Order: sequence, then C-alpha cells, then structure tokens
Amino acid sequence: MLDKRFIRENPDVVKQAVRVKGLDLDVDELLQLDQDNRKLQFEVDQAQSRRKSFSKEFAKADEARRAELRAEHADFDTRLKELREQLAATSARLGELMLLTPTVPWEGAPVGPDESANTVVRAWGAPPSFDFAPLDHVDLAEKRGWAEFARARRVAGERAYVLCGDLVLLERALHSYALELLRERDFQLMAVPALVKEAPLVGTGMLPKGRAEIYEIPADDAYLAGTAEVSLVGLHSGEILDAAKLPVRYAGISPCFRREIGSASRDVRGLLRVHQFEKVEQFVVCADDQAESDRWHAELLDTAETILQALGLAYEVVECSTGDMGVGKYRMNDINTWFPSLGLYRETHSCSSMRDWQARRANVRYRTADGEVRFAYTLNNTAVATPRLLAALLENCQLADARVRVPEVLRPYLGGRDTL
Ligand code: AMP
Repeated sequence: MLDKRFIRENPDVVKQAVRVKGLDLDVDELLQLDQDNRKLQFEVDQAQSRRKSFSKEFAKADEARRAELRAEHADFDTRLKELREQLAATSARLGELMLLTPTVPWEGAPVGPDESANTVVRAWGAPPSFDFAPLDHVDLAEKRGWAEFARARRVAGERAYVLCGDLVLLERALHSYALELLRERDFQLMAVPALVKEAPLVGTGMLPKGRAEIYEIPADDAYLAGTAEVSLVGLHSGEILDAAKLPVRYAGISPCFRREIGSASRDVRGLLRVHQFEKVEQFVVCADDQAESDRWHAELLDTAETILQALGLAYEVVECSTGDMGVGKYRMNDINTWFPSLGLYRETHSCSSMRDWQARRANVRYRTADGEVRFAYTLNNTAVATPRLLAALLENCQLADARVRVPEVLRPYLGGRDTL
C-alpha cells in the first residue's frame, strides 16, 4: 500500500506503475475519493462543533428561542447522520482502492507484461551430462520406492504425493542444512503457523487480490497460508520496533498451501507444483532506507545461491519484469534451477523487496534514534522449498544404477552417507 500523500503528489508516477505492472486500478477515482473524503471529514468535524455550540445556546435561551433551536437541531441531526453515512461509504471504497495501490517498481526492472520479459542476470554451474539415460524425478523416485503418486491421489486428490523412506530423510536434510546456514548468518529460526486469520493475509498483500489462490476454512474464520511470510509479518503487526533492534532477520519454516488455481493443467505430473509443500523462508524487516534494503536484497540472494552452489545445482538468476513481479514488489529476482528431464531452468527461489508496502498494510513501524516513528521496509526470499528442490536434486544427482549422490553438505544429516 502506498502513502496517500505520495499518490496525491505523484499521480503520474503511480499511474505509470499501474500501467507497467498491468494492474486494474483507477488512480483518478482514488484521488477523487480521497478529495471527497477529506471534504466530508471537514464537514462532519464542523457539524460536530456546531452541535456542541447548540447545547450552550440552548441552556441560555428563553422558551421561544428554545422551540426554534429544537427544530433546527432535528434538521441538523438528520444532516449530520447523512454526512456520516457518506463519509463511511467513501472511506470504505477508498480503503479498498488503497489496498490495490502498487509499489512503484525499481527503474532497472525490465518493463513487460509477464515472465517473457524477464532477463538473465547471471548463471552458475553447468547442467550435468550423463553417460546413461537419466530418469525424471517421478520415475526415479518410483523405481526406488521413494514416492507414491497414484495412491496419494486417492487420499488427497490432484497434485498429491507421498514421500517414502530415504526421500523423507533427504527432504529433512535439505531443511536442516538451510536452517543451520541461516542460523550461522544470524537469522532467528521460527517455526510458524500456516493456519492463520485474515488480517495477516491482508497485511502481507495475499488478500484481497489473491483470494482464489488461498484455502479458506469458513467454519473457523481461518485460512491456510501459502508461505511463512504471512505469519512473520503478522507477528509484528501493530508494533513499533526499536530502531536498535533492526534489522529483524527470520528463517521461517512452515507447511505452505496453495490452490494453484491459475495453473490448472500445468505441471500436474510429479513434485513441481503441488498443493502442500514445505518451505524455509528468509525474511527481513529493516529501516526505510533504500541502500540498506538493497544490501539485504543482495544478502538474501547470496544465501539462496550459496545453498544451490553447495548442492552443486546449476542455476540462473533472473531480473523479473514489472508485469511478473506483482503489485507489492519494488524488485524481484527469481532463481531458476536446472531440471535435466525438462532440459530447462525452473524457478526454485524468489527474492523480493517490498519497500514499506507490507509495513503500511500490516502497520509495522519503528522508532528512530531521534524518536520519529516510521514504516519499516520488508524483504523475503526462499531458502529451500521442497519437494520442488528435492526433485531437482534427484534428477541432477542421479547415478546410472538409480542411486543418488548426496551433496557433501547434506551428509551430516544423513548419517554420513554419500549415496542413497
Ligand atoms: P513464492 O513464495 O511464490 O515466491 O515461491 C517460492 C518457491 O516455493 C518457489 O520458487 C518454488 O520453489 C516453491 N513453490 C511455490 N509454489 C509451489 C507449488 N505449488 N509447489 C511446489 N513448490 C512451490
């Protein structure tokens, strides 16, 4: 959410952001509502103080004047009621539109409608070459008795999967390794709820726009979050943090739930796009300082790249276009990892700077050393999301006999085994 004053003072900048992000928001309607709202608020304030002066005049007035005052008062109350109703209606509509206002994107972001306009910033590693016919992760996992798909679907429907045996341990190993690395980098480890209320979803920006993507549990007025970011932002909602405690750095682990409504028939095979997965998310709250936010953006990217390099997986870092980055993001870099069975790089990580867009929605503020209260900046990036990364690992590290080489960094979590 943007600052109202910023929108008033920079309407063309906001309109341009709406345009390049391909959003459906009428900035002129918003500005008109803002003006109406302020005018109505002024009239309500005036009417209220006039009402107070009525009582004083009434106390001093004689009987004839009191009768006049009573009649005036009745008219006046009707008018005040009308004004209040109008104010409530414009405020509600203005609030709805404010929630749709975008962060103005970084000027270096490629301008384009979707991911087709993304550009590759750098690449690391080379795709493996096999001297045997490699299997895709589904065939490999089934061959080794490591996954169940058909029976899982009987239990949980489309996109369901069961991990079995060593694949369960390999998934745990990936998360343990990521958590340990983040602990060493001074991130506080947090195991957070996936079952959440509406407010933190609005605070992070998942609602109202993304409602179709989220599982709702109406009986309990609850939702299943698609990322730990929802809880991590929500934890500080309504708080004023001490500047000396910034940056807040979290490694949040949680199950993630997504309806994947927009990807109806895409990636229905295997572990790439599922309704329930497990993610360690990096999350930072820092001061509203662009240079500092940029440093954290680079640091969050570095951690994700460190993980992929340690796993020996080839990847490319992508600069996401204005149309791909979504409404709240200032900058977004995806990391796409090599999948041999697809013969291409697929997204495994997504690093985003939000500026104060989330903090304004969730009301996360901090007090500077000289006592000023300001909205904070927030950033996030994936550290490890499984089973997608697990699928990449299986496909890239497979051996001719369908065993899988365990990257060195994971061996301590697998009893020292170098192959599975
Ligand atoms: P996001 O939180 O949308 O930026 O996604 C972060 C990462 O989570 C992605 O890069 C994927 O690795 C993983 N991910 C997202 N959605 C799914 C899904 N439906 N199934 C499996 N992995 C997913």
